[in-house]
Amino acid sequence: MICPECKKEYPEGISVCPDCNVPLVESITSAGENEIEDWVIVYTTDAEYEAEMLKANIESAGIEARILGQKDQSFPAVGDLSVIKILVQEKDAEDAKAIINDINNREVEENE
Ligand SMILES: [Zn+2]
Repeated sequence: MICPECKKEYPEGISVCPDCNVPLVESITSAGENEIEDWVIVYTTDAEYEAEMLKANIESAGIEARILGQKDQSFPAVGDLSVIKILVQEKDAEDAKAIINDINNREVEENE
């Protein structure tokens, strides 16, 4: 099992990275660079809980979603170190954006 954030490997039986507090995955982007090209950013936030919440909602609609933190990028970034991106496959982008809009609209209504 591998942490998608810090890429540390853990023995089986551990399901959450104690450093990053994110669920471990069995492998990360083992298909390589080609795979990621089909993924598009549908949302950015600096709140990890919001990213996780939106990802869960997108996934509950049957759409595969990924969270990409700054740490996952292979090039050095200047500023905006806390930006977290939500990615879905290109074919799902419109649906995912609609779900995110729904959720954000709902939250506005609840706050009023
Ligand atoms: Zn980690």
